[in-house]
Amino acid sequence: ADQAFDLVVLGGGPGGYSAAFRAADLGLKVALVERYATLGGVCLNVGCIPSKALLHVAAVMDEVNHMADLGVKFGEPEVDIDKLRAHKNKVTGKLTGGLAAMAKMRKVTVLRGVGSLLDAQHLKVEATEGAVGQAKTGAVQTVAFKRLIIAAGSQAVRLPFLPDDPRIVDSTGALEMQVEAEKMLIVGGGIIGLEMGTVYSTLGSRLDVVEMLPTLMTGADRDLVKVWQKFNAYRFDNIMLNTKTVGAEAKPDGIWVTFEGEGAPKEPQRYDLVLQAVGRTPNGKKIGAENAGVVVTDRGFIPVDVQMRTNVPSVFAIGDIVGQPMLAHKAVHEGHVAAEVIAGELLGDEKLKKSQFDARVIPSVAYTDPEVAWVGITEDEAKAKGIKITKGLFPWTASGRAIANGRDEGFTKLLFDEESHRIIGGGIVGTHAGNMIGEIALAIEMGADAVDIGKTIHPHPTLGESLGMAAEVAHGSCTDVP
Ligand code: FAD
Repeated sequence: ADQAFDLVVLGGGPGGYSAAFRAADLGLKVALVERYATLGGVCLNVGCIPSKALLHVAAVMDEVNHMADLGVKFGEPEVDIDKLRAHKNKVTGKLTGGLAAMAKMRKVTVLRGVGSLLDAQHLKVEATEGAVGQAKTGAVQTVAFKRLIIAAGSQAVRLPFLPDDPRIVDSTGALEMQVEAEKMLIVGGGIIGLEMGTVYSTLGSRLDVVEMLPTLMTGADRDLVKVWQKFNAYRFDNIMLNTKTVGAEAKPDGIWVTFEGEGAPKEPQRYDLVLQAVGRTPNGKKIGAENAGVVVTDRGFIPVDVQMRTNVPSVFAIGDIVGQPMLAHKAVHEGHVAAEVIAGELLGDEKLKKSQFDARVIPSVAYTDPEVAWVGITEDEAKAKGIKITKGLFPWTASGRAIANGRDEGFTKLLFDEESHRIIGGGIVGTHAGNMIGEIALAIEMGADAVDIGKTIHPHPTLGESLGMAAEVAHGSCTDVP
C-alpha cells in the first residue's frame, strides 16, 4: 500500500467528516477520501445549506410583501439573480472552507479522489482534479486501513423516461438557478421539492406539483400539512395528488409533460422548468463493496447494526447509505458512533467500544413558509398502530407572539402515551417550527411527561411557550399525573 491509516473514511459529507473528526480527536490516524473539491457532501454543497440560504431570502421577500397588511408597504423587490447565486455560493464556500481548516487542524489527511474497496483492508483511490499533493488526474494509489467507514451518501433519483434537457433538473440543478421559469413543475411533493418550489415561487414562478401519493409532505400529520397548504395555495396552479408523470417531450417552447392518475390533466402540460424530486438513492453499488464481501441490498443500502458495523468486521457504514431517514443530523450522530466504536477497538477503550446509536427519535423539518416540523410518533401513525394517545394542541391564534408577528396560522401539537403520560411525539406548523422541534426531541429522549413540560417555565412572549401550553392542554385530561 502507498499509505496506511488506522481509519479511512470514504465520503466527506456530514456523516464522513463527523466520523473522521471524532476519530482524530480520539487519537486515531485518519484519512478522509472525497471525490469532489470541497468537503461537506450533499448537505453543505448542494443540499441543506444552499437551499436554506435561498429559503431565507425567499422568506424575507414574502415577509416584506406581507408587511403591507401590517401597515408598512415596501417597493417591488428587484432580484439580481447572479448576486443571489453568488451569495449562496459564498455561504457554502464559508462552511466547506471551514471544514477543510478543521481537517487540517486535526491532522486528518484528505485524499481527493474516487475511492473503491479492493478488499477488507485496502481502498483504491483514483485521484480527481486538483487533488491534494498535486497528484495527476487518474493517478491511482492504494490505501491500507485497519478500519473503514463507508459514508458515500446518496444521489437524486432520475426518472428514466424524462429526456436529457437543461430545463429538466434535480435539486442540484434547481439550486443553480440557471433557468428562468414562468411555469415550473415539481415532480414529487416531498420536502426537497416543496422547499425548492417555495424559492422559485417567491422569485416569480407559478407552480404545479405532481405527487403519486394522496398527500403532500408524506410523513407529516395531515393537520400540519393542511395549514401549510392553505397558506401556500396562492403559489400553485395545480396540485395533482394520486397522480404520476408518465412522459415528457422537450420542445423549443418548453417541456411538455404527460400525467396519469386521479389529478391528471387530459392534455400534456407545458413547463419552462421541471424539477425531479422523487427521492434519493444510496450509492452502495458504486464503491466496490462486493470486493470486501460487504452486503449491499438490491436498492443499494448497506445494512448495519446499532454500532454501525456491516457484516465485515473491519468495515462500518453511516449516513444516507445505511437507510432512511436520509438526513444530515442522523448521519452526524451515526458518524460519531462508528468513530467511537472503532477508536474503542483500536485503542482498547472499553467505554468507547460500547458506543451505539440508540436515538429514540430523529426530527424532520420542512423549511417551507410556514415551516412544518415533526418528531417521534405522529397522530396518523398512532391511529394506524392502535397506540392510545392523549393529545395536547395549542393553536397559535392564542399565542401573543404569533399574533404580534402577524403569523398566527400555526399550531403546536404534543402527543402523550395515554397510560404513562410520557411524551412520544409532536408536531409544529408555523414560523420557526424547525428551531423549536428540538425541544420536543429532548423531552422524548428524557422521558418527560405532560407535567414536566407544562410546568417548565418558557419565556413570554415566545413561540416556544406554545410547547408548555400544549402540554397543559393535555395535562387537563390526565390529572392523575403526579
Ligand atoms: P453525503 O452528504 O451524500 O456525502 C457523501 C459524500 O461521499 C459526497 O461528498 C460524495 O461526493 C462522496 N462520495 C461518494 N462516493 C464516493 C467515492 N466512491 N469516492 C469518493 N467520494 C465519494 N438533510 C437535513 O438534515 N436537513 C436539510 O435541510 C436537508 N436539506 C436537503 C436539501 C437538498 C436539496 C438535498 C438534496 C438534501 C437535503 N438533506 C437535508 C439531506 C442531506 O443532504 C443528507 O442526508 C446528508 O448530506 C447525508 O450525509 P452523508 O454523509 O450520508 O452523505
